[in-house]
Amino acid sequence: MYDNWEELEESIKNCKKCKLCTNRNNIVFGEGNKQAKVMFIGEGPGADEDSQGIPFVGKAGQLMNKCFEGLGIKRQEFYIANIVKCRPPSNRVPEQDEADACLDYLRNQVVLVKPEIIVLLGSTALKNILGKEYGITSSRGKWVESKGILYMPTWHPAALLRDENKKIEFWQDLKEVRKKMESLSER
Ligand code: SF4
Repeated sequence: MYDNWEELEESIKNCKKCKLCTNRNNIVFGEGNKQAKVMFIGEGPGADEDSQGIPFVGKAGQLMNKCFEGLGIKRQEFYIANIVKCRPPSNRVPEQDEADACLDYLRNQVVLVKPEIIVLLGSTALKNILGKEYGITSSRGKWVESKGILYMPTWHPAALLRDENKKIEFWQDLKEVRKKMESLSER
């Protein structure tokens, strides 16, 4: 566990703990406000993210940004990271050994950010953070409290590109997050 961002990022840049290191162009470390009250956790980098080294810059990320704008919240307020820092080939779901190898980096990021709310984007984030017993269809939109952090599971933005109904539900879930952010800042 690193107590500073520089050493953590450096160790990930040199990481060869799983086979995803072989095809990466860039690690996608994470970005945003390092003192954020709200963190977003996705699955892993896609092609655009791998080439730029920034999370959620492709079509799915652009759609998520539009939702933020529509709700009057700013992406820069949040810290955004993924379960795995290197791109899985053909955008497949990270295999369990890959997620297991990478999770300590994310845990370290959570310790450094100290968020009050974590939004889990999709099934991979949900299962790796809260446990295999959770399913995204039944869990989305419902707050889960664990070890002093409030979790909001919702759809991964990539799923919204394929299903209009999920876009509405994602929007509702983000509205809940905004409401909770407001109530936290009033305390
Ligand atoms: S995905 Fe994570 S564990 Fe695997 S090589 Fe990349 S940084 Fe290391």
